[in-house]
Amino acid sequence: MIQYQSEQVTVFQSELFQTTSTVIQTNEIVLIVDPNWLAGEVEAIKQYVNTIKRERDTYLLFTHGDFDHIIGYQAFPDAKVIGSAGLHHHPEKKQKLEMIREFDAKNYISRNYPIEFPMVDIVIHEDGQQLQLGNTSITFYLAPGHTADGLITVVESLGVMIAGDYLSNFELPFIYDSAKAYVQTLEKAKQIFSAHAINLLVPGHGQVSDDSAEMKRRLEMAADYLNRLIEAVLLSDDITIDALYKEHAYLSSFTEFCHEENIRIIRSEFIT
Ligand SMILES: [Zn+2]
Repeated sequence: MIQYQSEQVTVFQSELFQTTSTVIQTNEIVLIVDPNWLAGEVEAIKQYVNTIKRERDTYLLFTHGDFDHIIGYQAFPDAKVIGSAGLHHHPEKKQKLEMIREFDAKNYISRNYPIEFPMVDIVIHEDGQQLQLGNTSITFYLAPGHTADGLITVVESLGVMIAGDYLSNFELPFIYDSAKAYVQTLEKAKQIFSAHAINLLVPGHGQVSDDSAEMKRRLEMAADYLNRLIEAVLLSDDITIDALYKEHAYLSSFTEFCHEENIRIIRSEFIT
């Protein structure tokens, strides 16, 4: 379904995990971000792109290499792919593809395109790296923490910030990579908000926001949660750790796993 639409920006939302897929059109290009999840949902995004694209070039941006975000890659075989150096050199490409195959097989899902790991054409190596496509200027920031290969993207002329799996309205931090890096990425996001006029924040999961107070709230919510979790882990305060678990939305074996992973990574980084 379409969660948000303006003249140039359309944000689709999957039925699964409230994962977003974004399509941005400018005079020169069509940029597709993380097209996902179900076969019919990817097909609807593809049809939408075919309807609007005319003679424009298509670009496919991946915010990171988690399997739900790369699942629609080969539905857009003509698009030029943008991703971080971390995505380009992802150490677990095979495992990610296996997760897609397992998900599809478990749910009897057939797709009309092959499952492959994205081949990155335009590799983002550093903070502030820019891509100029006609009059469209896009700025990238490396965003490790959730995953090592995360990327935050700002489409300058539209003031759109595509955050990947950060700054959700409801999903608290899931650390698969590094708690220290996650804290730094939140700090970087704060700097991005002051360096660019951001009119629209698009998280990887949940609702977009066009309200700067709400963007700030999300930043503070994530930073505050991480700080409290790190402190509780350092103090081995199990009661607080348990209460922090219950702050997650949609409690399930999945959130339980992510919470345990958060604790494990914090321990490994802060307790030697
Ligand atoms: Zn995600």
